[in-house]
Amino acid sequence: MAPQTTLAERLEEVRARIARAADRTRRDPAGITLIAVTKVFPAAVIREAWELGVREFGENYVQEFQGKFPHVAGLEGARFHLIGHLQSNKSRPAAELFQCIQTVDTPRLARRLNEAGRPLEVMLEVKLSPEEAKSGAAPEELPELIAAVRECANLRLTGLMTMPPWSEDAELSRPYFRRLRELAERHGLAQISMGMSHDLEAAIEEGATRVRVGTALFGRRKKG
Ligand SMILES: *Cc1c(COP(=O)(O)O)cnc(C)c1O
Repeated sequence: MAPQTTLAERLEEVRARIARAADRTRRDPAGITLIAVTKVFPAAVIREAWELGVREFGENYVQEFQGKFPHVAGLEGARFHLIGHLQSNKSRPAAELFQCIQTVDTPRLARRLNEAGRPLEVMLEVKLSPEEAKSGAAPEELPELIAAVRECANLRLTGLMTMPPWSEDAELSRPYFRRLRELAERHGLAQISMGMSHDLEAAIEEGATRVRVGTALFGRRKKG
């Protein structure tokens, strides 16, 4: 990412990429939500993106977002998605900080989130590549997991998310994207969260309704 570009320019470029990919598959770009992934970046970056019209944000770590939350809590219309793995001992603060938890992968975690007593949107993280992913439910586990989530009065299940093994070649992500979409259709779930900075086009062509973009908007993250 060239450092001399502004966030406004990078945002415009990402929106254009989304629109072009939607166009290629005759999809309405309005059906694809950009989730700006702000992990590692300070609260000021969230505010800056919000001022440019971004309303959906993704964060990976409960504890990190706890620190930013006081500075972004007043941003009208902003919604925060947890897109990193959630340990059940952090489920209460997670339910208080986020509007959507995209990484529910066990019935136990669903029940813990439900016990927090707040209305919460949830998505199920699916593990499609045994060799890479550390978290996520296997496709065979989905029927049981979906049933468990639907028994939770505070949880509203909207869809599935996945993260394929990382590869520079977006075409290698495509079979995973296709598989997630098939699973979402089979289970009657509307939202499909897949695609990141380098492979969002393939994800949109395969049916993504939410793309999670960090680097293309905010630049490289420093390895901590
Ligand atoms: C960091 C992260 C992203 C964003 O990745 P970029 O390559 O920076 O766009 C998307 N999804 C998840 C789950 C992430 O952890």
